[in-house]
Amino acid sequence: MMKAVQVLAPDTWKDALALKAEHPEALPIAGGTDVMVELNFDRARPETMLDLTRVPELREWGPEDGRLRVGAGVSYTRIIEELGDRLPSLAVASRTVGSPQIRNRGTVGGNLATASPAGDALPPLYVADAEVELASVGGTRRVPVAEFVTGPKRTCARDDELIAAFVLPGAAGAQQFAKIGTRNAMVIAVCSVALALWPSQRAVRVCVGSAGPTPLRAREAEELVEGLLDWDAPAPIDDAALTRFGELVAGAARPIDDVRGSAAYRRHALAVLGRRTLSWAWEQQRCA
Ligand SMILES: Cc1cc2nc3c(=O)[nH]c(=O)nc-3n(C[C@H](O)[C@H](O)[C@H](O)COP(=O)(O)OP(=O)(O)OC[C@H]3O[C@@H](n4cnc5c(N)ncnc54)[C@H](O)[C@@H]3O)c2cc1C
Repeated sequence: MMKAVQVLAPDTWKDALALKAEHPEALPIAGGTDVMVELNFDRARPETMLDLTRVPELREWGPEDGRLRVGAGVSYTRIIEELGDRLPSLAVASRTVGSPQIRNRGTVGGNLATASPAGDALPPLYVADAEVELASVGGTRRVPVAEFVTGPKRTCARDDELIAAFVLPGAAGAQQFAKIGTRNAMVIAVCSVALALWPSQRAVRVCVGSAGPTPLRAREAEELVEGLLDWDAPAPIDDAALTRFGELVAGAARPIDDVRGSAAYRRHALAVLGRRTLSWAWEQQRCA
């Protein structure tokens, strides 16, 4: 006989943390757009679930010491509508997630916890130097997103912890995101690139998604282009430099052959996306 699932449904953040401490095995559910797929395909059979949808604190966002603190339960639709001007790369990535229904339900917190190499919210968080705020009854800690994601579908969160929020600076320079899929919408990324310009540091951050076990920063590409850009008299980047940048972006990937694409195709596509995102962002910066 099938056992009934116990569903815990706290109304406050304090109660959610207390329940997670009491039931560390409980599977949290936010938008349910990953969890319900796992249940429907019988890939997960949790005895206890922790429904976070009634917790108002998870749906809040606001400024904090010059940065933004965004609750883990803020949906993609709200990121696009309410934070598109402050977090452009994340907003562009959010627009590519699923369908309107998935964007209404799905949350960045859920994308972080799933930690899929193809999670579209992750590369924009890497290039924005985001931190993930984890909380338990014992207290709160913040971890850089690249340390939070420890492997494919693995994170450093403990069983008694929940993701409270992510914290990051609003964009000070142009940001971009581009994704390749096997069709135009409702598609898991074959590969993606997020890019952010940091004018005050005269720096560029670029991260590839869906082309390795975790999102990967392309450090050599960042260094190459930082040496080339003249921030005081911004001129167009020449074609040879853009091509070299694309090659280095592709070189940072550790892609595999799978049903969505071959490793060789992913490298080719990443070189194109790298060139494209840099030229778009730099043109935006030059014209600002
Ligand atoms: C049709 C369809 C299309 C999709 N398209 C895309 C796409 O284009 N790009 C993409 O990246 N993803 C896509 N997804 C996957 C999914 O929508 C995203 O990963 C989404 O961000 C998950 O968020 P959620 O709130 O629905 O998470 P849930 O399904 O509720 O949870 C996901 C995971 O996060 C955990 N969790 C949730 N909230 C917390 C919290 N506060 N603390 C700790 N753990 C938590 C859950 O236990 C679970 O392990 C798609 C899914 C579907 C069904």
